Amino acid sequence: MDTATIAAFEEMTILPPVDTDKAIFSAATVQEYNTAMQAALELVATFLERTKKPFSGITPQALAAVFETVDVDTPLPDYKSLLEEVDKLYVEHATAFHLPQYIAHLNCPVVIPALAAEVLVSAINSSQDTYDQSAGGTLMEERIIAWTGRELGFDADCDGVFTAGGSQSNLMGLLLARDHYAMRYLQHNIKLNGCPPQASRFRIFVSEKSHFSNQKNAALLGLGEQALVAVPTDSRFRMDAVLLEAAIKKEIAAGNIPIAIVATAGTTDFGNLDPLLAIGHIAVAYHLWYHVDAAYGCGLLLTDKYRYLLNGVELANSVTVDYHKSFFQPISSSAIIVKNKQSLDIIRHHADYLNPEEQDYDELPALINKTVTQSTRRFDALKLWFTLRLMGKQQLGNYTNTIIDTAEQAACLLENDSDFELLCHSDLGVLVFRYKPDFVAPLAYDAFNQKIKKSLFSSGEVLLASTRVNGLFYLKFTILNPLTTISDIQQILTTIKRHGKNVLQ
Ligand SMILES: *Cc1c(COP(=O)(O)O)cnc(C)c1O
Repeated sequence: MDTATIAAFEEMTILPPVDTDKAIFSAATVQEYNTAMQAALELVATFLERTKKPFSGITPQALAAVFETVDVDTPLPDYKSLLEEVDKLYVEHATAFHLPQYIAHLNCPVVIPALAAEVLVSAINSSQDTYDQSAGGTLMEERIIAWTGRELGFDADCDGVFTAGGSQSNLMGLLLARDHYAMRYLQHNIKLNGCPPQASRFRIFVSEKSHFSNQKNAALLGLGEQALVAVPTDSRFRMDAVLLEAAIKKEIAAGNIPIAIVATAGTTDFGNLDPLLAIGHIAVAYHLWYHVDAAYGCGLLLTDKYRYLLNGVELANSVTVDYHKSFFQPISSSAIIVKNKQSLDIIRHHADYLNPEEQDYDELPALINKTVTQSTRRFDALKLWFTLRLMGKQQLGNYTNTIIDTAEQAACLLENDSDFELLCHSDLGVLVFRYKPDFVAPLAYDAFNQKIKKSLFSSGEVLLASTRVNGLFYLKFTILNPLTTISDIQQILTTIKRHGKNVLQ
C-alpha cells in the first residue's frame, strides 16, 4: 500500500487493533485491517465452497454444547483462532440462502456489488440521520428513494426513507394514515395529544392474507388489533375488491370510522398481488389513506415483462418496499415511499442538538425528519447504489423474470403429479402444496406433511416452509433464487417423496 493510502487510512476512525501496543493510526492499523478482512473473506470462501446443503441439521442443544467450550472473558490470540471459533459456532451451521435447496422464506441470495458496499458502510460508518453525519450518504439515499418513487409511478413530489424492514415501513404507513385522518377530519394532532376518543372506532382494511405486521402495528399505534378488518380473498388469496367495498359500507353503518386500506402486493403465503387498481379507486372514492405493502412484490418494478402486475400502485399514498426481499440486497434494506413529501411533515420532531427548528432543511437536509423509530441509522442505501450503478435495473429484472418463470414451471410440475396438491399458482414464486400419496389416509395428511418437514429440516437436505390454510397444514416453497432450475425443483420433490417413505417406517 502506498503512503497516500496509508495516510488516508490514518484519517479513518478505526478502533485500536487487538494488540493495543500498536498505535491507533499507523501502518500497523492498515496491516491489521487487511489481515482481518482477508481472514473474514477466506471464511466466506470456505462457507461457499464447503456448503453443499442449506443446513447442517444441528439441534440447538448440540450447538449449545459447542458453546460450552467458549470463555467470553478470555480473548483469543489472533484472527486465525477467532475465525476458527466463529466457524464452529456459526458459519458451519449457518443457513445457506444461496443454494436452490433453500426454498423456505423470503430470503434472497445477494449480489456481489452490494457486498462490496457493505465494506464501506461499516468501515466509514456514516449515520444517515443528519447531513453532518453522512453528507453524500444523505444525497445518495435521497436519489435512491426518488428513483424508487419514479418507478412506482409517482412524480417529483414523492419522498421516503430507508427503514430496517417491511414491518417498520408498514408501521410508518399506518401511522401516517392514522395521524392524517385525525388531523384532517378531527382537527386533532395525535403526535402531540395522543389518540382521540374516536380512535377506538378507527378501521383499517386489510386482506385475510395480509402480513401479520399490520396487527402488531395497529397494536403499537394504540388502535388495537380490533381496528383491522380482514377482507375475504378470492381463489388465489387476493383481496376481493367487491367485498372490500361491502366491508367499508358495513363498518360505516355500524358507526365505525374507516381510515385506511392496506393492499398487499405479493402475499407472504402465496406471492399474489391484491387488485391494486380496483382497491385504489375504492380508497379514492371513500377518502381513505391507501398503503400498499409491496415488501415482496417490489421486485416487479425491475421487470418490463411483469411490471403490469403493479398497475394501480401509483394511486397509493404510501408504499413499503423491501429491497432485502426482492432486489437481491443483504439485510437490512427496506424503505417507505410516500406520494407527497408534505405527508411526512406530520411526524417531524425537532431535537435542538440534531435537527433544530430554525434550520433550513432545503439547504441542509436531515433524513431524521422522516423517521419515526430510528435516529442513528445505517447507510443501507449504498448497497443498492452499488448494485444499480454497476449491474443496472435490467440485469436484476432478468433475475426476477427467471424466478417467476421457474416458479410457474414448478407450479405445473406439482399440478401434473397426482401425488401432490397445489393450492394455487403464484404471481411471484410462492407455492403452497402438500404431499398426499395413495399410501397415506386423507385424515393423516397433516401429520404426514409435518413429519416430512421436520425430517427434511433435521437432515438439512432441503429447507422449506409451511403454513395453514383453512385449518389444514401445507408445505410451502418460496422461490427467490434466479439460479434455481426446474430440475432442482424436480429433485426437491423427489427428496420430499423419499422422506415421505422414511417417516412412515
Ligand atoms: C416480509 C414481509 C413484511 C415484513 O418485512 P420485514 O422486512 O421482514 O420486516 C411485510 N409484508 C410482507 C407482505 C412481507 O412479505
